Amino acid sequence: MTAVITRPNTEEKLDILSTDAQYDLACACSRKDPDEHRHRGADGKWIYPITLPNGGKSVIFKTLMSNVCNNDCKYCPLREDRDVRRCSLGVDETARVFLDYYRRTEVFGLFLSSGMCGCADATMEQLTASLRYCGEDTGSGDIFI
Ligand code: SF4
Repeated sequence: MTAVITRPNTEEKLDILSTDAQYDLACACSRKDPDEHRHRGADGKWIYPITLPNGGKSVIFKTLMSNVCNNDCKYCPLREDRDVRRCSLGVDETARVFLDYYRRTEVFGLFLSSGMCGCADATMEQLTASLRYCGEDTGSGDIFI
């Protein structure tokens, strides 16, 4: 059985979604320098170090836009039949959350991914709509999906 939270606020959703984003192990291991590992920011959200094309370093904010997924990838803790708390950030909500961090200069980019809510095209539409919103405000911020 899947638990569905009907009306969590943005902060509650972000807690769930940024925690679930940890299953993507980018920056979690295999590098020797601890400064190159992901770590938790002051509020517990995951902050990811990245190396820029010019060799410089930066940090990005990472979250899922949604952990609702109708796929059944056997390796994935978020696959459809798993009993996890499910929720989604809206397009504007996702952008607002990221831009709050960005304006406080805690992060300089965004790593956004999502479960498959409906079809792949609809999911990608949601992601790109939010990224467009973010891009308009950040200009040269680093964005990964
Ligand atoms: S598509 Fe869904 S089940 Fe597959 S890896 Fe992504 S979140 Fe997990």
